[in-house]
Amino acid sequence: MHELSICQRIVKLIEAQVGERTVVGITLQIGGFAGVEISSLEYLFPFAAKNTVVQDAILTINHVTSKARCNDCQHVFSPQRRYDACPECEAYGFELLAGDELNLISVSC
Ligand SMILES: [Zn+2]
Repeated sequence: MHELSICQRIVKLIEAQVGERTVVGITLQIGGFAGVEISSLEYLFPFAAKNTVVQDAILTINHVTSKARCNDCQHVFSPQRRYDACPECEAYGFELLAGDELNLISVSC
């Protein structure tokens, strides 16, 4: 499953950073356009974290609101989907400015 492999990548990344130390908290930043189902990620994370330094960590997910600029009228808005039309001029096609983030923000030991 997609979200499980993301969890496993995050765990590996954290292990590489902290070594043998026990992690108590992790903060992720995820945008609505990152292609990640946050509820699945939260559900699957404990499986990926099991028997690692991350297993008792509290996972916090900061959701990033999407932001895009219309290619036609330059209006900046918050699309919910890839193919949303511009609310100003109803044109399709925008440049995504924010919302595709999938970042590890902090790890506390
Ligand atoms: Zn527009």
